[in-house]
Amino acid sequence: MTGSNWIPAVFLYAALLGCNAGLSAADENAQLIRLTEDIYARIVNPDGNAVGNSGFIILQRGVLVFDTHFTPEAGRQLLEDIRTVTFKPVRYVVNSHHHPDHTHGNQVFPDAHVIANRGTRENILEKDLPSLDRTIQIAQTQMDRMRNTALKETDPDRLDTLKLEIRSQQDYLSTLLNLKIVPPLVVLEDYMSIQDGTLDVRIRFLGPGETDTGTVLYIPSERIVFCGDLFFKNALPNIQDADILKWMETLEKLLQLEADRFVPGHGIVGNRRDVENFITYFEDLRSLVEPYVSRGEGLDRALKEIRMPAKYSGYRFMNFFRANVQKMFTELKTLQMLSIPIEGPKKPKG
Ligand SMILES: [Zn+2]
Repeated sequence: MTGSNWIPAVFLYAALLGCNAGLSAADENAQLIRLTEDIYARIVNPDGNAVGNSGFIILQRGVLVFDTHFTPEAGRQLLEDIRTVTFKPVRYVVNSHHHPDHTHGNQVFPDAHVIANRGTRENILEKDLPSLDRTIQIAQTQMDRMRNTALKETDPDRLDTLKLEIRSQQDYLSTLLNLKIVPPLVVLEDYMSIQDGTLDVRIRFLGPGETDTGTVLYIPSERIVFCGDLFFKNALPNIQDADILKWMETLEKLLQLEADRFVPGHGIVGNRRDVENFITYFEDLRSLVEPYVSRGEGLDRALKEIRMPAKYSGYRFMNFFRANVQKMFTELKTLQMLSIPIEGPKKPKG
């Protein structure tokens, strides 16, 4: 998706088709975690149709939702979960960032104010919307081609197969056409506070991370942060839209928040130690790549020789490792060309 979305468009929208076939799966695969009496995290199975986690907070006059999953169907399942604990209206939807696994359920909440960082709104309008339009055009063209082929087909077996493929393509297309991308209408720069009842709910932009516009939702009195994709727990990060070195700095700011529970965009609820481990992963990545850049060796060699440290072998999204190495290499190379020291801060051993 022209570098804009963390899963390539082809996969994303193709995945929608799979979602059509297995709508009930995500419901079974999502877990509603009660963090306090009024604050819930919805932790999803990455293989379901929701893809990214969400959460919600019951305020005095209504509900605030943080992220809406990857499909309207998953968004509706989120709404069903909300309805198991409250009948208050959903007044606010906060999108942590523009990636579709956090925004494509927005249409389920038509009466809510959709809130995000200004850059998130721009990314949705300038990247996600055109990307969906392109995907619909491609799907329509493929459908026309399949129908034309079917008209000329004389072999009955092949015709049957084609009919099945056309039906499947129709489902895919109607899923795409039913998806309405809802951009945020209320934008913030760095900070916004919602005070409805006793909770002070803060939306904060801490700095660039997985995207350059991602925000977190911080509830200081409860020591909870919904991190969006600023924090991945026990998973390799997507770096497609990221500047890793800046991300590392922003994670230090995340740790400066007075919080004990950190809800990631992907993975189960973590604690401070988990955020530190995530930073350590980036530090390890940097230490692995840095000698290659220092010695003036090429990216090819680094990619060929660098192995994932064994301690990360249980992490999810292992297929991101190669891209992680590549991105770190490029960033360190840029620093080197600017004559900026490329070594990371030295940490005491042991
Ligand atoms: Zn995500």
